[in-house]
Amino acid sequence: MSRIAYVNGRYVRHAEAGISIDDRAANFGDGVYEVCEIRGGALIDEAQHLARLARSLGALRIAAPVGAAALRLILREVAARNRVRNGIVYLQVSRGVARRDHGFPAAVEPGLIVTAKSIDPRLGEANAARGVKVITLPDERWAHPDIKSLQLLPNVLAKQAAREAGAYEAWLIDADGFVTEGASTNAWIVAEDGALVTRHADRAILRGVTRTTLIEVAAREGARFEERAFSVPEALRAREAFLSSTTTIAMPIVAIDGQPIGEGKPGPVTLALRRRFHEMAARS
Ligand code: PLP
Repeated sequence: MSRIAYVNGRYVRHAEAGISIDDRAANFGDGVYEVCEIRGGALIDEAQHLARLARSLGALRIAAPVGAAALRLILREVAARNRVRNGIVYLQVSRGVARRDHGFPAAVEPGLIVTAKSIDPRLGEANAARGVKVITLPDERWAHPDIKSLQLLPNVLAKQAAREAGAYEAWLIDADGFVTEGASTNAWIVAEDGALVTRHADRAILRGVTRTTLIEVAAREGARFEERAFSVPEALRAREAFLSSTTTIAMPIVAIDGQPIGEGKPGPVTLALRRRFHEMAARS
């Protein structure tokens, strides 16, 4: 079965799908994106993803390419045409196609691409059973990681550095020595005193949808939760550390920069949050 993509109003074979060489997404990274989990055929926390998409578009003054109802239909159609029951649906909005010039084009139609792919849930479970390693690197991104823009070069370089170091993720460190987030995930610890901690959602991080739902799970479980920055030394002393995203849910971290966290194995708080996540997340 060949994969199908949605590109600017048409469903096309993935292998033959293409965009213009003047697409501003390709020339400038001038666009935004979202990734939504599909689980058992349902979209997970779709409303939160679409709300964040609207916010990202507004921040960059890009018009919505289609209305919200049409977009929901397209996401489902792409998932169905690719027979994805467990996996992700990816959507990307570009400011549009125009002769290359940095300033906004006068009249331009925003572009929309949607793809979907299956991911075997057993892969994530195997990683979670073992736990993953992270390295730390200076956060060299622009001043607005809170916007889910296509400009991901520092994230790409950080992720590659992690891979080359045999790690799963890179935690990015701000100028004051505090962890902002990972290259494509939010960062968490269970501190020495047992409090669950993740950075406040300032301009320095993406407000992860998974992060938001995990905060709700923690509240329901009666966990003590602190939304504040934490440093690498505090993380190294923590009982547990983990990362979160749409594709990883809550993923235990067993080592930071080669130093074991807690007992050097996945921690109970992380694994409980991971197990409970889908009870709290919205399905549609
Ligand atoms: N932080 C960054 C930089 C990301 O790219 C992502 C996801 O792609 C996240 C955090 C996690 O966000 P979400 O939970 O919405 O997937």
